[in-house]
Amino acid sequence: MPHERMHGLMVSVELLEEDEKSVRVMLSGIPLAVANAIRRFAMNEVPTMAIEEILIIENSSSMPNDVLAHRLSLIPFTSDIDRYVPPEECGCGNRLGCDRCAVRYVLRAEAGDEPITVYSGDMVPEKPDTVVKPVSPKIPIVKLAPGQKIEMELYVRVGRGRKHAKWQAAVASLYEPKEGDGSKRILYVESIGFLPPRRILVEAAKALEKKSAELEEKFSEELRRAAGEAGS
Ligand SMILES: [Zn+2]
Repeated sequence: MPHERMHGLMVSVELLEEDEKSVRVMLSGIPLAVANAIRRFAMNEVPTMAIEEILIIENSSSMPNDVLAHRLSLIPFTSDIDRYVPPEECGCGNRLGCDRCAVRYVLRAEAGDEPITVYSGDMVPEKPDTVVKPVSPKIPIVKLAPGQKIEMELYVRVGRGRKHAKWQAAVASLYEPKEGDGSKRILYVESIGFLPPRRILVEAAKALEKKSAELEEKFSEELRRAAGEAGS
């Protein structure tokens, strides 16, 4: 009997399926609200890297600066979140960041006699050995007619989907298995490309843990304060 009662509380995660882009896990003994929080955290709270600051030095293309900047900001970069921190967690206070919070790229292109298309692979990192690269070199950015030119500096930084959708790490869904008894749910996570799907799951759980710890601290603080006021 005690074993049965224990069993109802037991949390388990079973890996059902995994490939380069996606992962499917079975969650057991996890309340729906918590499972849902993990799903949302996988999308909105996992840190990833995308272009945040752009210094346009020259743009004689027919694409306006703001449209060009928007297109660039939507390019996902393979994200080194062990090394780089979000700007708000870095002490530098620099708008363009430092070694810990920004990866600098330069994009220069000019069309000669023939029109050209500029691709994500044309962006050149300041440090050639960086692992923070566009997920694909073949993402088209802008077309240049003969004689047109662009030149800009790009700053790739850590952010979260909650701040802007361009940093959204994954799409995730939660559903009950066909022959389910209500205690099991399947979580499906498909990576946008910034991070391996397995890493997204781990980071989502980490973010949830951090939020819970913050909440615990706030509760204790508030209750201590209330007790203090009642005592005086
Ligand atoms: Zn910094």
